[in-house]
Formats: sequence, C-alpha cells, structure tokens
Amino acid sequence: EDNLFKNVISHAKEYGFIFPSSEIYDGLSAVYDYGQNGAELKNNIKEYWWKFMTLLHENIVGIDAAIFMHPTTWKASGHVDAFSDPMLDNKDSKKRYRADVLIEDAIAKMEDKIAKEVEKAAKRFGDSFDKEKFLATNARTVEYQQKIDNTNERLKTAMTNADMAAMKQLIVDLDIADPVSGTKNWTDVRQFNLMFSTEMGSVADDANKVYLRPETAQGIFVNFLNVQKSGRMKIPFGIAQIGKAFRNEIVARQFIFRMREFEQMEMQFFVKPGEEMKWYEYWKEKRMRWHQTLGLGAENYRFHDHLNLAHYANAACDIQFNFPMGFKELEGIHSRTDFDLKSHEKFSGKKLQYFDAEDNQNYIPYVVETSVGLDRMFLSILAKSYQEEKLEDGSERVVLRIPAPLAPHKVAILPLMKKDGLSEKAMEIMDDLKFDLNCFYEEKDAIGRRYRRQDAIGTPYCITIDHQTLEDNTVTIRDRDTMKQERVKIEDVKGKLISACSI
Ligand code: ATP
Repeated sequence: EDNLFKNVISHAKEYGFIFPSSEIYDGLSAVYDYGQNGAELKNNIKEYWWKFMTLLHENIVGIDAAIFMHPTTWKASGHVDAFSDPMLDNKDSKKRYRADVLIEDAIAKMEDKIAKEVEKAAKRFGDSFDKEKFLATNARTVEYQQKIDNTNERLKTAMTNADMAAMKQLIVDLDIADPVSGTKNWTDVRQFNLMFSTEMGSVADDANKVYLRPETAQGIFVNFLNVQKSGRMKIPFGIAQIGKAFRNEIVARQFIFRMREFEQMEMQFFVKPGEEMKWYEYWKEKRMRWHQTLGLGAENYRFHDHLNLAHYANAACDIQFNFPMGFKELEGIHSRTDFDLKSHEKFSGKKLQYFDAEDNQNYIPYVVETSVGLDRMFLSILAKSYQEEKLEDGSERVVLRIPAPLAPHKVAILPLMKKDGLSEKAMEIMDDLKFDLNCFYEEKDAIGRRYRRQDAIGTPYCITIDHQTLEDNTVTIRDRDTMKQERVKIEDVKGKLISACSI
C-alpha cells in the first residue's frame, strides 16, 4: 500500500498533475501546484460539484466571496479563540507534534496489543474460543482496556477544557517517546492557532491584522441576507461556494491530503429552526449518493459519526474515503444550528433574520452544511484510478481509470503517420470536436507508445486516423479501459464520445 502511494505521487509529478510548490527552491512544505493535467482534472471536479449544487437544485445559488474578511468575522466565528491545536516539540529531534495525535497513536497501539492477545488466544483455544468471555476475564486485556478508557476520558476532558497541562501529563503518563529521536524530552504543550495572519495597508500594527480565511463558510454567513434579499430566496435555500482556505497545519503530511493552502467546496443550507435534523439526514444521503455516482466503488465510502461535537454543531458526520493510508475524512456534513448567524448578529449589531411570510414571523435560520475538500477529492480519484497492469503479452502498463466525465482530456487525436495527408485529416476531425470535447493532438512516435501515454494521463478514448480513413471516412476509436478498438464513421464520432463522457 505504501509503495503504491509513492508510485501515485511520482506518477502525478511525471505526468503533469501535481508538482511540489516552488520546487527549484526545494519546495514549500504542504503546498502544491497543479500542472497542466491536474488543473484540468481539478476544474472538472469543480464543475461536477457546482452543476450538481446549483443547476440541479433550483433553491441553491453560488457565490464567490473574498479570501480576506473583516477581522471581527473570526472573533464571531470562534476561530480567534478556539481554532487551535495543542502542540509540543521534542527537544532532541526539534520535531513538532500535535499532542492529541500522539495520544491517539498511543491508544491505537494499546488497541493493537489487545487484538494480538485475542489472536493468540483464538489460535490456542480453537473452536471453543469465546472472544467476549476472554476480553472480560483475561487480566492483561482487561488492564489494557481500562487504560484505554481512562486515557480517552482524560483526553476528552483536556480537549474540552483546553487544559494544556493535562495534555502534557497524559504524554508523560503514557511514557510517549518521539518516533524520530526515541527520547521523552518534551516541551510544554501550547495552543497553536491554525490561522495565517498578515497586515492590511501600510501600517504594521495589530489593528490592521487580517487573516487568510481558514474556511469558506464565513463568506456565506456574512452574505446570507444580501443573497436572500437580492435573490428573493425562500427558506429552505442554499448558498454554494468553491474557494481557497488556509490552515497552518502543525503536522502536514500525506501529500495533498493535508495542505496549508487548499480548496473547499461548501454549501450552507438555511432551514427553519426545528427542521434541521430532517435536512441533515437528507444531505447526508444526497452527498453519499453523489460520491458513489462517480463509479470509484461504493465500498470505498463510509459514514463516520462525530461523537465529540464542535462548539457550533448539534450533529455532525464525515464521509470517509478509502485513501491509500486507510479510511479518512473526505467530506464533512454538519448541523451548525444558528450559532454562526447569531454570533454575527451579536458582533456586528446588524439583524440577520429571515421573515417567513407563511408563518408571519422573523427568525434566525438554522444551517446544515456540506463541506468537501477539493484536493482530497482529487486525491481520492487519482489514487483509486491509478492501476499498474500486466497485459496478456507480458508487457506492463500504468493506466489512470479516471471517470470519463472528469478526465483531463476526453479524446486523443492520433494520425497514424504525418504524411499522405493523414495529419490534415486528423486536424479536420479535431476542429469539429474541440469545442465540445477537450482534445489532445499527437503525431510523434509509434502508435503503441502514444496509446500508453494517453493511458497514463487517463484519456478515455483515442481516435486513430489511417489510410482507410481517407478512403471510407471511418476512424478507429480505442477504449482506455478495455484497450479494444472499433471502426466508426466520422460523422458518428462526436455524438458517441459526448454521450460516453457525460455523467
Ligand atoms: P481534519 O479533521 O482532517 O483536519 P477538519 O474536520 O478540520 O479536517 P473541516 O473543517 O470539516 O475539516 O473542513 C471540511 C473539509 O475540508 C474536510 O472534509 C477536508 O476535505 C477539507 N480539508 C480540511 N483541512 C484540509 C487540509 N489541511 N488540506 C486539505 N483539505 C482539507
């Protein structure tokens, strides 16, 4: 699995999907650039989401708010006070860690130990093994389980109270060593705010401090009444947005899974108070189905309910995806209550209420949000579509089975050779297709190698123009996944490809 992930990462670079940022200066940690094929794939994902949200739902409209916002926004949202992670350093390796992650890793190790004991006992007892009974009576596993429960409880209390001394005590009590230096020489645990800040205008003082938004949602909340009034929207309605967000993640790793600059695709759905649970369930199901429609395999998605709710939520879950490093959060669905709008009312002194003409009453709507990371979605598609195949003739190929509607190029136009007018004929075909389908033109190299290169960038179809084309106006269409070819009349090509490349 680990090797496969490495191969995906190097493939992404070699074929123009993702480059480390400012690579000639050795890169910038957890920041990445999208190359010529990556940008196309990313745009297609955005379009797939945007169309689903705004075209298929007549009560959802899209906006594009600025990254900079009035600094009070982030006081009202709770980010200035509470958007932080507990962090500590190992004094020997100088490495920085998230305290909660170290503790969770230690818990996972204890869970592993219990699993090993169970496995051993199961072998020893054979058919007569009773797992429940074993767990309840075996002194060693009972002790581990008590320690796990106790640690979980202490972690939860420390996190809820933002008690950094208690976090440190947990690290000490669990005897956690730095995986790099092996030592237990830790600094104190400190709160580390994840927001990036800078100064606006020419005077560098605290009054001019602005933040790079850590989520796109607040741009929607502060515009809630602008959109509702100018669009004459009636509750329930939604506002969708795609845009950059920035978080100074302490532990940035796993390629584009956790970045410091990333993009979110968020939709805030405004509902009548008391109806939020109905809509929460509605959007859970809808979003899951949307992901599964892509065809990467329904078994690769699952729900994960949040037990520890954020300060603004009364229900929350993730849609997790089976990434190369295991099931991890891809999208969050949160019932945010009226927390944000109420808080913005308080801090701004402006009313943010909706007048419900049917009920003849004013109220602050409740919000159900769906928030998916564009880059995580990109990674899910890249990782699952990357396949190393052994072919019947013994050769190997790497193919990206990207769902056709999202593929960077839908079709490659390949004249078998440059001469005899084949290039001209190929150009003529391309001119007819290129407005409707993203085409790739290539006339160099043997046809087999050209097919392989298209496989590697995920082009679902190749059209080959040969001498027969000049005689009877047919071409061959080669299918990326089956590698089968069929002869098709030129006049039928466009319709065939358009329907094959739509959702
Ligand atoms: P995590 O627990 O992984 O840090 P989160 O719960 O903080 O994520 P949200 O605040 O709910 O994430 O953000 C919504 C979505 O934005 C996430 O589901 C994820 O897809 C994406 N996202 C969040 N942080 C990052 C990041 N650092 N890099 C890339 N995508 C991210």
